Amino acid sequence: MIDLQNLKKRFGDLRVLRGVTTHVAKGDITAIVGPNGSGKTTLIKCILGLVRPDAGTVTIDGTTLDGSWQYRERIGYMPQGAPFPENLTAREIIAMLKDLRGNPENTDEELIDAFDLAPELDKPIRTLSGGNRQKVNAVTAFLFRPDLVILDEPTAGLDPTASSVLKDKIQAERQAGTTFILTSHVMSELEELADHLAFLLNGTIQFNGPIDDLKQSTGCHNLERAIAHLM
Ligand code: ATP
Repeated sequence: MIDLQNLKKRFGDLRVLRGVTTHVAKGDITAIVGPNGSGKTTLIKCILGLVRPDAGTVTIDGTTLDGSWQYRERIGYMPQGAPFPENLTAREIIAMLKDLRGNPENTDEELIDAFDLAPELDKPIRTLSGGNRQKVNAVTAFLFRPDLVILDEPTAGLDPTASSVLKDKIQAERQAGTTFILTSHVMSELEELADHLAFLLNGTIQFNGPIDDLKQSTGCHNLERAIAHLM
């Protein structure tokens, strides 16, 4: 579904992506892992068109992205942090996103209920707890039934109940054919969700394959140790 060819990105003297080439298969959950600061979020933003690479290409379903909005509408994105104006309420944000996309039917009710988020919908985002903001971010990622969902550390800050709700949602949508790219430092989450790991280090993908292959090739049955072995 997604082909990255020789992607390069630098910020000043810092060469973050030094030629990333990898493939994400349709219907898979691919986890991008790597040390803090290795460029996972930068890579995600290149796929989303939020960061323009210095070189290389992002091709989705055979179409090479040219920085326009053409594919963005088919991608759901759950970023780290606070992507929306903080004075808006979740209800206003959802309405704004619907408006931007020409008012398609959205599909947020189920996840709002599962997160028990209804009491928070009419409060300004800046007044919500960190976990509840994360839930709002998750709800917006799944609006409009995207073909591809990109989740940047999705369960960071979520309590165990909310974390389970989100993982169930990911698995259910994946069963329905959605493709996922996620980043995570949580080993249990990677074990539970990821079909493939793409390991980013020193600006390139140094391993891309199933978790079992990583364990086998490193001789470590514990995933954390297997990943640490690559660093
Ligand atoms: P983490 O695991 O800590 O979330 P990451 O792998 O997602 O990290 P990035 O957020 O992609 O890493 O950052 C990679 C490097 O690029 C970091 O050194 C970061 O400071 C730098 N960087 C990212 N965005 C910018 C920017 N807009 N301007 C300058 N430097 C940036």
